[in-house]
Amino acid sequence: MAELAELEWRSWKRVLVVVAHPDDAEYGLSAAVHAWSRAGVAVHYLLLTHGEAGIATMTPEQTAPARRAEQQAACDAAGVVSLTFLDHPDGMLVGGLDLRRDIAREIRRIRPDAVVTANFDVEAYGSFNQADHRVAGLAAIDATRDAANGWVFRELAEFEGLPAWSATSILVAGAAEPTHGVEVGTDDERAGIESLSSHRVYLEALPDHPKPDDFIPMLLAGGGRALGVQRAVAFRVLPA
Ligand SMILES: [Zn+2]
Repeated sequence: MAELAELEWRSWKRVLVVVAHPDDAEYGLSAAVHAWSRAGVAVHYLLLTHGEAGIATMTPEQTAPARRAEQQAACDAAGVVSLTFLDHPDGMLVGGLDLRRDIAREIRRIRPDAVVTANFDVEAYGSFNQADHRVAGLAAIDATRDAANGWVFRELAEFEGLPAWSATSILVAGAAEPTHGVEVGTDDERAGIESLSSHRVYLEALPDHPKPDDFIPMLLAGGGRALGVQRAVAFRVLPA
């Protein structure tokens, strides 16, 4: 029996992906995004920072526009409908009400069926997780609940015309204990490779980073084994 259940996503109309940095959505998740987009689901991305502190040899002023452009190319490869950047500081993302309000605003604006974020465990990806990742994942979950509660951030309804919106699912990509899988095909795998490869300047600055052509197929094959298919993206899925 497969370790993962097949995720029921076919009735979805809209998805919002919330991550800290350009490239965070490109480690398998973007292959699922391509599959959803291909089936007519409108997938929107919300980036909490510009990733401007991500390249040691470039200043934040140089890095921010380069990484914004690379993220747009990655989104184009995956079929993403819209890409929004918030101006929270990279490497210094602060959890709290300001961040939650900013994410809740986007959730109420986009009105997604599912909110997707990335692993926010203390330990992840073979080491201790990055500070912004821990903050971003928890804030995305909290903001999904905030967006659904009309008495939280009342100013969003009163002054911005954004009433409460309840997403039905929260998905965590790259989770240590996934529950569900999304089967993807070879086109989606190619889009996943292309989206990660789009972060060219960023990856050039990290010579030890695994190569997208090797890494993405390996990730999808691992998800596929757990779902009992050839290729899949694994998620931890909980009701919103
Ligand atoms: Zn990151």
